[in-house]
Amino acid sequence: MNLSGLQIFKFLPGAKKTEHANCKECGCPTCMAFAIKLAQKQVSYERCKYMPEELKKLCLKNIKPPQKTINIDGLNIGGENVLYRHEKTFVNKTIFAVMLDCKDKDFHEKLERIKSFEINRINERLKVDLVILKNDKNYKINNLCDETVYIREEEFLKLSLIKIEDNNFKNTSKKLKTIREKAIIGRDEKYSNPVYVHFKHNKNLYELCARAGYYLCKYTNMLVFEDFDESLFATLMTLRQNIYTDPQKPLQVKSKIYEFNNPDENSMVFMTTNFALTFFAVANELENLNIPSYLIVTPAEGMSVLTAWSAEKFTAQMVAKTLKKFDFKNKVKTRKIIIPGLLAHMKEELEEVLPDFEIIIGTIEAYSIGDFIKKLA
Ligand code: SF4
Repeated sequence: MNLSGLQIFKFLPGAKKTEHANCKECGCPTCMAFAIKLAQKQVSYERCKYMPEELKKLCLKNIKPPQKTINIDGLNIGGENVLYRHEKTFVNKTIFAVMLDCKDKDFHEKLERIKSFEINRINERLKVDLVILKNDKNYKINNLCDETVYIREEEFLKLSLIKIEDNNFKNTSKKLKTIREKAIIGRDEKYSNPVYVHFKHNKNLYELCARAGYYLCKYTNMLVFEDFDESLFATLMTLRQNIYTDPQKPLQVKSKIYEFNNPDENSMVFMTTNFALTFFAVANELENLNIPSYLIVTPAEGMSVLTAWSAEKFTAQMVAKTLKKFDFKNKVKTRKIIIPGLLAHMKEELEEVLPDFEIIIGTIEAYSIGDFIKKLA
C-alpha cells in the first residue's frame, strides 16, 4: 500500500521527539514536510540519514511500481499505481488491439479499414493502437509502418500479460477488480503483470460496447477484439480520452485570438477561456456557421468559464491584459465583444476596464450561438 505523509511522519525523529528532530539535513524545513514530500514521491527516502530501518524497508517496497509496464515497440501497457484516477492519475491509457487472422478471406479488407481509421478529438489524433497478426508466416511487418503497432501472435503470447477471456460479464469484471486490487492495494507480485480482456467474435455490437466500456473503466490495461468496427472504436476512444486525462492537468488550448472564416476588421468578436472542451465546442460552432469571426481565448489554466471566474482566473483585468497583448483594439473596428452567458454578471466590470468596447452577453451553450447571431443581426 502507499504510505501517507502522516504514516511516514510517525517513524521520523520529529514525531518521536528524538535527536535530529527537524534538523533540516534532508533539505526540508521539518520532518513533517519531508514526510509529505516522500509520500508524494518528490524526494528520495535516502535524504534522511536518521530514518529507522523499519521505514526504509517500507519505502523500498513502496518504490517498486505495483504494476509492471510492458512495452511493444513504444506502446506502453500497464504501469498503473492507483485504483482511481482522482487519487493521482492513470499512467498508460488502455490499449485497443485487433487480432487479425491472415488466413481470413477478408484479411486485406479489414487491414485497410484499420489503417485508414482515424479520429481527431480535442487536439488528439486517435488510431487503432495495436494489431496482432494471427497465422502469419510471410507478412512483412516492417512494411506496415504507421502509428499503429503490429506484432505477430506468437510474439504477443510470450509477453508477461494476464489474459482474461470474456465469456461472462460477472466473472470478467470480478477478475479484473480482484487482480487490480491485489496488485495496487496488496502489492502482490503475482498480480503485477498488466491485464487484457480478449473478446471472441461477437456480432452484438451493443453488448460488446457496453462490456468493453465497463472493463475500460474497471480495470483492464488492454482490450483485444477479433472484429473491427469503426463505430465501436470511435465510441471507446471517446470514453478513453475522458478517463485518461490527468486530473492535475486540465485540457487546455493556447491563449490567443483565433480566426474563423477569414474575419476582417468588422467581424464579430467572441470570448471564452482556454479550457479545451469549451474552446472546441465554441470553435466548431463558429467554424460551421460560415460567418467571419474572432474568438479571444483568455488564459485561465484550462478551467471552464465559471470555474475560472470562481477561482479568480477569469477577471476583467485579465481580459483587458489579453486584448492589450494582442493589440486587439487596433486590429479591429468592431467594438462589441460577446462573452459567455454564464458570465453575464461580469458585464459592468468588463465595460469598466474596457471603455472602448460594448460587452454583449452571449449564450450559455455553444450550440445556441447560431440562433443568437440571427437575433443579433
Ligand atoms: Fe527530519 Fe530526517 Fe529531515 Fe532531519 S533529515 S529534518 S530527521 S526528516
